[in-house]
Amino acid sequence: MDLFLPIEKLKNVGARNLPRLNKLGIKTLKDLLWHFPVRYEDYTRLVPIIDVQAGEKVNIQGEVLKIVNKRLFPRRMFVTQALIKDESGAMNAVWFNQPYIANSLQEGTFVSLAGKANLDKHGLYLSSPTYEKIDESDFEIKKTNLTHTGGLIPIYPETDGITSKYLRFLIKPLLKNIAIPELLPEPLLQKYNFPALQEALLKIHYPLSLDEADRAKERLAFDDLLMFQLKAVLERRKINQLKSAPVKFDQEFIQNFVSKLPFKLTKDQKIAAWEILKDLQKKYPMNRLLEGDVGSGKTVVALMGALQVAKAGYQSVFMAPTEILARQHYQTISYLVGNTIKIALLTSSTEEKTEVKKAIAEGEADIVIGTHAVIQKDVKFKNLALVILDEQHRFGVAQRAALVKNQEIVPHLLSMTATPIPRTLALTVYGDLDISIIKEKPKGRQKIVTKVVSPAKRRAAYQFIRNEVNSGRQVFVICPRIELADPAKEIRGKNGQSKMNILWAEAKAVQEEYKKLSEDIFPDLKVGMLHGKMKPKEKNEIMNNFKNGKISILVSTSVIEVGVDIPNATIMKVENAEHFGLAQLHQFRGRVGRGEHQSYCLLLSSTADTTTNKRLKALTECDDGFELAEKDMLIRGPGEFFGVKQSGIPDLAMASLANVELIKKARLEARLILKEDPSMNNYPPLRERLEQFQKLTHFE
Ligand code: ADP
Ligand code: MG
Repeated sequence: MDLFLPIEKLKNVGARNLPRLNKLGIKTLKDLLWHFPVRYEDYTRLVPIIDVQAGEKVNIQGEVLKIVNKRLFPRRMFVTQALIKDESGAMNAVWFNQPYIANSLQEGTFVSLAGKANLDKHGLYLSSPTYEKIDESDFEIKKTNLTHTGGLIPIYPETDGITSKYLRFLIKPLLKNIAIPELLPEPLLQKYNFPALQEALLKIHYPLSLDEADRAKERLAFDDLLMFQLKAVLERRKINQLKSAPVKFDQEFIQNFVSKLPFKLTKDQKIAAWEILKDLQKKYPMNRLLEGDVGSGKTVVALMGALQVAKAGYQSVFMAPTEILARQHYQTISYLVGNTIKIALLTSSTEEKTEVKKAIAEGEADIVIGTHAVIQKDVKFKNLALVILDEQHRFGVAQRAALVKNQEIVPHLLSMTATPIPRTLALTVYGDLDISIIKEKPKGRQKIVTKVVSPAKRRAAYQFIRNEVNSGRQVFVICPRIELADPAKEIRGKNGQSKMNILWAEAKAVQEEYKKLSEDIFPDLKVGMLHGKMKPKEKNEIMNNFKNGKISILVSTSVIEVGVDIPNATIMKVENAEHFGLAQLHQFRGRVGRGEHQSYCLLLSSTADTTTNKRLKALTECDDGFELAEKDMLIRGPGEFFGVKQSGIPDLAMASLANVELIKKARLEARLILKEDPSMNNYPPLRERLEQFQKLTHFE
């Protein structure tokens, strides 16, 4: 049977359930079979009725002796009560508001029930058990072939109207009746002792033991991880066939630049710069991710690449996610390189756009700094050789493609991110990128005092802010949008809010906080606000006022202005901090502590919940972005690491991101498979699956 058969073609899927299944991400037969249980209910114990104990979860099997519907008048409720008998004895089962059960389980029916045994004044009974009819004559089937009530029973991710019971009813018959073509080469299965695909699918839905379920899971996770790795190898191969501008690494020139810097580069900065400059020499384009905490000094490292490119006679473009950051880069870079190199700034609010574009087209601008304005159609470069993307979450390979157009020479790509991506995640999702990491902070960076502030301590926090402002310091206040969509939905990413809604929700949170602070709490201080619904011009003005001290307290959204440099800001206050991941909070924290004054990060938690606050507490103790990122991934899953949570990573692959060994195996096997059979002709099912995977996943 065709795995890509739309589920509406299945006879048990009706018009009413179709949209609901779609909502769970189930559109094809494959989606259905790959809709894996989140856990299993353990009904492996088939218990003779006489042995049932109150409080136990049990499976009992027997004959319906009597079944009646009663109406409880005061509460307008139906109760269905059945008396079940096996060889050892008899007991009751009750259900509420499901009178149809009496029709389905008529007297004389043999039934298997699973549920919890309760005890009340009338004796022992099963409360709302799951039930299925059984054939009394076939004892083997009774024991081993139940769908809902015996053995380890799968519990699935559900949604309104789609219960696990319905999913089991759909999935179970398919598992036995369709032949699923094997994906992996036989020797590979043997090498790792993986179960065959057909068996793994059967066992992940209906394992005989949890151990069996784990082995099935591992095999299926391997498949997903292998897709990522195959895609990465192919991507890499494609890139290596492209032609780039080879830029000679001129060590003397670079050393000369470095010696004139107002600071000494850290060892990690030197290594990263070396890796980049080496890449630039190659005949094919660089594809590198530069990771480093906020304030670790990525800009200067990227700049060294851009300078070398300029020296070789080519252009570079430096793209920032926001106008304010673009301006800031323009200022720092102009300051660092002096006037030997020509630098242009191009954003949507640049006034002499025509002139700037002309300079870019004629090759007069060596380094072009800007926002997405630089990838507009009408911007033509004379000889672009390097694209630097700051905050890679929002820019990526697609942007490079837009810049390249029909050029014969493909520019080198350097993406930068302050999000410390756990190694396993990077290996999986960015397998086609080389990675440079700056872990070491520049010397003399202060430690930021971090405190979790409970609702009771809010007043004290305000007083603290007031004192800092009175002694001339400045304060950031970050607000999340609070009415978050269902987090499960966000992770699935298939029906999340539109970007516009998110902007509005954030703007609203910021406006409310601004009103409160400027009118009630600090009416005498200068409070400003910044959010994504403001015009670029307004934003610039506010940011400039904050930079030059005309605003003391800036209330802002979380997404805006990552990486802004305000050395006089000493307090980062985050409202509803529990809504953020640790890595993200760590990034916020990095916006203070850039000057000479002791700085503070205040995490206002809106809850007294100890688990939540314990999670936040990790920040008070840990200053290492990578460590926090690993923690985050364990607690919140990898969805956190992609700007929009549209990660598209299958759940199992996600869960296995902690499994470094499995990721390594997948990496190795992807290479071997493609080495032996570059177009994967020998493995049609694998190739087909990969094509499907490539269509479904984008990580921008
Ligand atoms: P990020 O990695 O967050 O982009 P930046 O590149 O903006 O960090 O650097 C933050 C600040 O640190 C800048 O003012 C930069 O000039 C400075 N800086 C960079 N490298 C060093 C260093 N090795 N020693 C001291 N200061 C440095
Ligand atoms: Mg930066």
